[in-house]
Amino acid sequence: MSEKIRALALFSGGLDSLLAMKLVIEQGVDVVALYFDTGFGGKSFEKKKAYLREITQKIGAKLQIIDVREQFVKDILFDPKYGYGKNFNPCIDCHANMIRVAKALLPKYEAHFIISGEVVGQRPMSQRFDALKKVEELSTADGLIVRPLSAKLLPPTIPEQLGWLDREKLLDIHGRSREVQMRLAKEWGIENYESPGGGCLLTDENFSSKIKDHIKYDSFDLEDIEVLKWGRHFRLPEGSKLIVSRNREENEKLQAIKSDKYIRFTTPLPGPVSLLRKGASQEEKRLAAKIAITYTKASKEKEYEVKIAESIFKVSPFDSKEKAREFLIK
Ligand code: SF4
Repeated sequence: MSEKIRALALFSGGLDSLLAMKLVIEQGVDVVALYFDTGFGGKSFEKKKAYLREITQKIGAKLQIIDVREQFVKDILFDPKYGYGKNFNPCIDCHANMIRVAKALLPKYEAHFIISGEVVGQRPMSQRFDALKKVEELSTADGLIVRPLSAKLLPPTIPEQLGWLDREKLLDIHGRSREVQMRLAKEWGIENYESPGGGCLLTDENFSSKIKDHIKYDSFDLEDIEVLKWGRHFRLPEGSKLIVSRNREENEKLQAIKSDKYIRFTTPLPGPVSLLRKGASQEEKRLAAKIAITYTKASKEKEYEVKIAESIFKVSPFDSKEKAREFLIK
């Protein structure tokens, strides 16, 4: 019996990576979809995982989640060799890292090559033609990366040369039009897929501003990823960070955060859970209490006791939320 050919796919959750996998599965290759968890892949990882499981099952790939959070934050996020895209997204380095990790995992999964859903000339940063080359250089995967959606526009790879894949059945998509992808998705019944980029928070302008602000004042730890995802973020006059939740879901998220950088506090009225950076001065604590109470139904004519760490502050809300918003991180 001939040996089963297996590929590891870089799987973002988006349509292109799904189609790339499906094209290869259609050729009788076993595909393991590797989802790289950088920590930034979306707000709720539980929801994301459920989606990833369902959609990979649908196309017949096996899902593996690879936790790269620590390495990504330590080696890539703040010092990418090829810089950032439009926001805080170091796509070229991030992509090269995925290929490097996937390459190292080939023996573990008894896999022969790597597939990626990149399309030549489609996206401004990670998928420019020269970017594909840079990714290849950075990752040193030597002809083992197949990009099924644009394969016919690129030099033949080892899997094509060895006949594991029929080049003729791969595609020659290029540019930003999504026409061919939409048609194929319809043909294969792939629905409800994520938008391109797979919801990566690093491509989001607001989230990027919050990271940029954070690193001006503080060290960046893994726990900070979760902190940055939820609530309104304020920068107080002496530089301390205050986070005030916006709703019940965020209350739960901020309650669940395990970080010893912050003091957690609530207000005497039903309302937000807040986190204040340890080390805040008494004046900042008072202001934090005033901001937090502004996001409750507190009366402007009354004073309320808000306990932060060991201190109790008597505060009344700002006249308007506008005043509190002056401290928002933009
Ligand atoms: S969008 Fe860019 S930074 Fe985010 S996961 Fe994809 S390649 Fe990495």
